[in-house]
Amino acid sequence: MSPEELLAKAVEALELAYAPYSGLRVGAAVQSADGRVFCGVNVENAAYGESLCAERNAAGSAVAAGALPLVACAVVAGREGSPPRGVWPCGACRQFLHELGGDGLRVYTLTGDGSVKEAVLADLLPRPFGVEDLG
Ligand code: ZN
Repeated sequence: MSPEELLAKAVEALELAYAPYSGLRVGAAVQSADGRVFCGVNVENAAYGESLCAERNAAGSAVAAGALPLVACAVVAGREGSPPRGVWPCGACRQFLHELGGDGLRVYTLTGDGSVKEAVLADLLPRPFGVEDLG
């Protein structure tokens, strides 16, 4: 799946986000090495700290389907009535994606003009905590 197609899945997912508190809807789509795609949305909670990010929801669905490793993640955000815009995964999601996809995982989001902005996870999360740090 192309970066544009994976971003389109994230945009499609965004419509189902549950974000009654922040109003910021986030959609994500992850692709596994075997080509499967899993979508996720942010799910907020009245106990704010219990809210879940779209990227981790998508990645969790991939795990539940036995679809590891992950090779790419697309993420977009938007407020109701506004077009989707680009965002990068938060720090927790970067760590989560590293666990399931490693340094080479591709991350896609949108630029201001709607084209693709791309990074490798190693650039977004240099020196991650990993299994080797468990000793
Ligand atoms: Zn996150």
